[in-house]
Amino acid sequence: MDVRIKDLQNYLYEQYGTRGHETGMFMKLVEEMGEVAEILNKRAGRKAVDGDDLQEQLANELVDVIHYAVAIAAINHIDLNQFILEKDKKAALKYHHERNLEEFIKETID
Ligand SMILES: [Mg+2]
Repeated sequence: MDVRIKDLQNYLYEQYGTRGHETGMFMKLVEEMGEVAEILNKRAGRKAVDGDDLQEQLANELVDVIHYAVAIAAINHIDLNQFILEKDKKAALKYHHERNLEEFIKETID
């Protein structure tokens, strides 16, 4: 099953809704980013490895980062889908990409 960003956003809005505090969520986001940094440091040999599966840990921590980033958008009624497409369009122009995300999606659907 593919996870659509809109569904994740609606799901997290249902979970946090008006009880969500963006500053608290932002602190959690930063904390999770720190956990990603720790794993990347382990992979780079800058920190001791405890024998756990770093690939699985990295995946889980990245999911945590996405969780809080999308939750902050959800409680602020930000349409991430729209902004992802718009921002990518600008970046694709700025950095002279062959195609933008919207074009990529259209091409891969056909
Ligand atoms: Mg975590």
